[in-house]
Amino acid sequence: MKAAMYQGPGKIELTDVPDPQPQKNEYLVKVMYSGLCGTDLKTFKQGHRFFPPPCILGHEFSGVIIDAGTEADQSLIGSKITCAPYVPCHNCTDCRNELYELCNHKDGISSGTFCEYITIPKTVAEKGMVVLSDDCNMVELSLAEPVACVLNSVRKLGFKPGNNVLVMGAGPMGLIHAEILKKFGANQVLVTDFNEQRLAVARELGAHVANPKQTDLRQWIDGQTGADGLTDIVVAIGTPQAVEEAFNYAGNGTTINIFGGLASDTRINIDPNSIHYKEVRLIGSFGFAPNDFKMAARLLQSHSISLGKIVTSVIELKSIEEAFAMSLRQETIKAVISI
Ligand SMILES: [Zn+2]
Ligand SMILES: [Zn+2]
Repeated sequence: MKAAMYQGPGKIELTDVPDPQPQKNEYLVKVMYSGLCGTDLKTFKQGHRFFPPPCILGHEFSGVIIDAGTEADQSLIGSKITCAPYVPCHNCTDCRNELYELCNHKDGISSGTFCEYITIPKTVAEKGMVVLSDDCNMVELSLAEPVACVLNSVRKLGFKPGNNVLVMGAGPMGLIHAEILKKFGANQVLVTDFNEQRLAVARELGAHVANPKQTDLRQWIDGQTGADGLTDIVVAIGTPQAVEEAFNYAGNGTTINIFGGLASDTRINIDPNSIHYKEVRLIGSFGFAPNDFKMAARLLQSHSISLGKIVTSVIELKSIEEAFAMSLRQETIKAVISI
């Protein structure tokens, strides 16, 4: 099969590799679409300890089951599916505490998804696979994973309809936040970014937008939210400065979620006074739990949410290097690879 092999920072090569063979308890899946994620971009740009080369990147996907081992469910052959790239063990302390995304005993799909075929163990399918209707939009359904990460974020915030939320960063994840928060009944969704094209999309999704280059954000937020202030702040930018800045906009009881990952030796400078006297909460969210993934697939299938404005390119596997380059240059928002 054809696979986009990551060979180290800046290098991805289309290679022929042996087709995966389904074992008796596995499904063979033809990948149809696979989203290019921030993690893939980070790996391509600077390397990633989880993905030593050579390996196949990609983990957000939709596809069709084309074969099943003798102990797997034969009736699923021909079904369109999406599947969580990883599932938790449900047995460890983290899982018992419902911190499924932090489970250290995760199981998953056979490889990255920037390739033609993968296998899915039956045990992974039972916990993380969603069978889709024949007419569903397979481009959007390839993005159940990033939607699931946002649902986890919204859950960890304790978001309620009527909340005022600031989303810092209008990359794909910031924009998915905007879409979900609006559809979930946020009173105000405010989105900030330096990129005007991305802000224009946020505006189309129903958010109020501002570019910090031209706008004093403190004044703008006060003007938009009045006496109510912000209930929640999502930091969807992976910089420590953004987390520090979020504290400038927090009011009484505001929850700040560090959604964008930061390097492990990062330090931030904040005034803990606001954590005590204003009861500002600083939290983080990472990945998703199986229920987030299933809910994400349901929301996409039922068109309760739509990613049509966020997916700005669908690019063939053979041009994947160009997809990475365009994404890094911010010439596209969310690129999906067609396989
Ligand atoms: Zn992802
Ligand atoms: Zn576990």
